[in-house]
Amino acid sequence: MSGPVASDDAAPEAGPPDHVVGPVVEVSPARRTQVGSLPVRRVLPQRPRRTVGPWCFLDHVGPVPVEPGLSFGIGPHPHMGLQTVTWLLAGELLHLDSLGSEQLIRPGQLNLMTAGHGVSHAEEDPARAEVVHAVQLWVAQPAETREGPAAFEHHAELPRLELDHAEGTVLVGEFGGVASPARRDTAHMGVELTLRGPGSVVPLRPDYEHALVVLDGRVTVDGVAVEPGVLAYLGQGRDGCTLVTEAPARALLLGGVPFPEPILMWWNFVGRTRQEVSEARRQWSDDDGRFGRVRSSLRRIEVGRPPWE
Ligand code: MN
Repeated sequence: MSGPVASDDAAPEAGPPDHVVGPVVEVSPARRTQVGSLPVRRVLPQRPRRTVGPWCFLDHVGPVPVEPGLSFGIGPHPHMGLQTVTWLLAGELLHLDSLGSEQLIRPGQLNLMTAGHGVSHAEEDPARAEVVHAVQLWVAQPAETREGPAAFEHHAELPRLELDHAEGTVLVGEFGGVASPARRDTAHMGVELTLRGPGSVVPLRPDYEHALVVLDGRVTVDGVAVEPGVLAYLGQGRDGCTLVTEAPARALLLGGVPFPEPILMWWNFVGRTRQEVSEARRQWSDDDGRFGRVRSSLRRIEVGRPPWE
């Protein structure tokens, strides 16, 4: 479920990275939008908070019942300068990309695609599931790898750990001394927490900034209630925090060293300058080979020119 970012999401100019603050709980609402036929909560980017570490995009879809005729497939579209992280809580998706990858993903598994200089992919809906519940995230790539080759990995099994009244599945990076095998190009982490309540102490790294995204249920952090549909930014400088729940809940905890480079994000591209983003769009439009080709029955997605052209 890669969500092509509508052009009105465009950051018109590359700005400085967000200023980092100490431990806070800053709750900001997701923007409600639509990807294909599905309503999504766009949790990242936000105006005050464009990135959390290198995490620069987060769409939360569902849980929604799948009605006959409703498909949440996304046709071929390009990416550059980012990694897509696909995480399902319910449903199934078939990932197809220009590297030739063809991979079914199910809940608890990770699809991680690195775009580098350019890749394209489609996500088809096998239409067997009754409920869709998914998260699509992007990780901005650093200068060292963003012009590099594309890659794709699937992790059918991820490491888990037990905390007090909670279980964690480590998607990327390290959490509580447990490391994911997934590729990462910067210092960051992402973990899914299943919280059984009443309270769980989770370890954090003081040099990371963190954010909590509740996917199901309600979680209280430092006295602030957090529910699906918001970004709860926790700031930097914490070595842990306590997550309180009255009923079972699920959440994503994301973190990373604040991204040092200003990024320019427009449509499906993460770049640094308008010129390189314009060039990428034109090359996709011309189908000149930079982004390869995807074998998919879905229609190729096109976009108009960016607002600065
Ligand atoms: Mn995508």
